[in-house]
Amino acid sequence: MKNDHIQKGGLVDLHGRVHDYLRVSVTDRCNLRCRYCMPQDGVEPLPHVDILRHEEILRLLGIFLDLGIKKVRFTGGEPLVRRGFMDLLAETSRLFPGTELCLTTNGTLLKGHLETLRDLRIRKLNISLDTISPERYLELTGTDGHRAVMEAIDRALELDAFDLKLNAVLFRETLDELVPMLDHFSQRRVTLRFIELMPFGAVNGMDFLPAFELEKALSAMGALVRNGSGDTRVARMFDFTYRGRHAMKIGVIPPVSDRFCDRCNRVRLSSTGSLWTCLHGADYCDLRGLLRGGAGDDEIAGAITGCVMAKSREHRLECRGMEGPCSSLSAMSRIGG
Ligand code: SAM
Ligand code: SF4
Repeated sequence: MKNDHIQKGGLVDLHGRVHDYLRVSVTDRCNLRCRYCMPQDGVEPLPHVDILRHEEILRLLGIFLDLGIKKVRFTGGEPLVRRGFMDLLAETSRLFPGTELCLTTNGTLLKGHLETLRDLRIRKLNISLDTISPERYLELTGTDGHRAVMEAIDRALELDAFDLKLNAVLFRETLDELVPMLDHFSQRRVTLRFIELMPFGAVNGMDFLPAFELEKALSAMGALVRNGSGDTRVARMFDFTYRGRHAMKIGVIPPVSDRFCDRCNRVRLSSTGSLWTCLHGADYCDLRGLLRGGAGDDEIAGAITGCVMAKSREHRLECRGMEGPCSSLSAMSRIGG
């Protein structure tokens, strides 16, 4: 699947940012109803015909990689609810052996797939988990999948094959979860990452907490030492020593209070084949229409390049709290978080 005829200028926008990271949402569906992500009665699932087929995703991946994408993260919705998702992953791994492949999942359906994921070269594995309390989990997600997630995390650690990050969304109630989360994970080889609540359609009364308040709370509990060398484009990294235990890695992701748009290197492909250059933007390009309309690879590559070129300089979330005109346009589960 090599498109040697495609220009290899890289995906650069008018502000000079180079894009080499693609997040691919393989489904809009999910088996959980996290309060901060989805309306409690769910979103109307899209008709199957609207969702990109495996071969369409693979063709687009080939074009994106030729345009300079080096890292691909599969997400959703919940990627593991898509029928045949592991086959898609296997094909991706086979066709594009030089590409870094990553997965973001809620972990509920993960445990039985971990060996295969290891064998398919998925090294970066992000599991979303906001609490280690089963009751709280039920309250937040509407399901009793907590035990399945905890077992998947334990198994992933046993296999010792993954760079494992646990993502928790930051809201005021998170502060109550800190001590049990730290007690449980500070002896395990995981990075805990806290992401500021972003105002998607359905935040269902969750209370925004700016990242600095979490940092203040952590500093009051132990030694929180900034480790800038571990920073990623989106996360501020810290080493945190807690109750005399070894330092654990903590990441703080502040998309609202400290936007990182100037460092953004990511683009998103939705499950319906729309290319979103910004999670909070209004602009997208319809690649599915081109694919199904018979466009050649060059034409699709041209559309992708043009879409990225026109990416806005920064997102439009202005809120410092959850009030005010800061609501985003689409459900996170649809675009792919
Ligand atoms: N279902 C998978 C999962 O939960 O990991 C993948 C998709 S989910 C949309 C990706 C990430 O987005 C999760 O870590 C989730 O916690 C985060 N997320 C969802 N809604 C959010 C919101 N309103 N603000 C911040 N992060 C959010
Ligand atoms: Fe599903 Fe992930 Fe959204 Fe939770 S955060 S509802 S697991 S897509």
